[in-house]
Amino acid sequence: TKIGIDAGGTLVKTAYRKNETILYQTFSSYNLGDVVSWVYESFENPIICITGGKSQLLSEKLNDSAKTVVEFEATARGIQLLIGEQYESLKTNFLFVNVGTGTSIHHVNDMEQQRVGGTGIGGGTLMGLAYLLTGVEDYARMVQLASNGDRGNTDLKVKDIFEGALPPISGDLTASNFGKRESMIAQYPSASDILAAIIGMIGEVIVTVSSQMAVQYNVDSIVYIGSSFRSNPLLRDIIDEYTRLAGKEPFFLKDGEYSGAVGALLSL
Ligand code: ADP
Repeated sequence: TKIGIDAGGTLVKTAYRKNETILYQTFSSYNLGDVVSWVYESFENPIICITGGKSQLLSEKLNDSAKTVVEFEATARGIQLLIGEQYESLKTNFLFVNVGTGTSIHHVNDMEQQRVGGTGIGGGTLMGLAYLLTGVEDYARMVQLASNGDRGNTDLKVKDIFEGALPPISGDLTASNFGKRESMIAQYPSASDILAAIIGMIGEVIVTVSSQMAVQYNVDSIVYIGSSFRSNPLLRDIIDEYTRLAGKEPFFLKDGEYSGAVGALLSL
């Protein structure tokens, strides 16, 4: 059996074919031994291709029997396959933004991909700031708590500054993330509010950087992938809304976080 593996900073994603469908699995990058046991216990003759930042490390644990490929190429290849299945109408000229532990922005034109930028603000920022500000360590718990949060208790909107006067830009835009200092001092926000505000800030920064790249490279569509969207509709909604406000069309690929693993599988 052929297996594609994307060993990232936080999560290891795997993809393999069974009958005509591709099956996916996720492991923690902190227990690469689990990946190795899974491979040897589940498959008789595994043929493996690995990509991602931890590919060297994982390859050594697999006794160097695996092929390795460059991550950006693999991801672009996987994305092309998933887009073909899900958004056939999507043109060949688009950006893809991989919101993983950090965020990486790529331009795809025909079959060529080029990394055009990125930001350290990503899924790892959520994990780290959530822990520092609320003590929550578990990902599922943090996204669940965030879903009940109110950013109105932490974030300053344009209309909060203009206090009833007509602002020159939409009053609903965030003027200052975590900028509602006075009201936070009056009443300390709940863990849910703080978590929602962290996710809001991350989403807004990602769109700000990505949409400017989209202008620079003259593309209308931005495809968002990465495990940071898992069980996190809040992040998705913020990015969806802000991307549209920026005049670009957002796409969220189903199983997009497995693009690298799919690309690795395709290179076998
Ligand atoms: P990488 O390839 O860098 O590991 P991913 O695309 O896998 O990046 O995204 C990692 C991010 O996904 C984490 O920083 C976190 O925000 C989010 N995430 C989703 N599910 C989990 C999970 N079960 N455990 C930890 N992080 C998760």
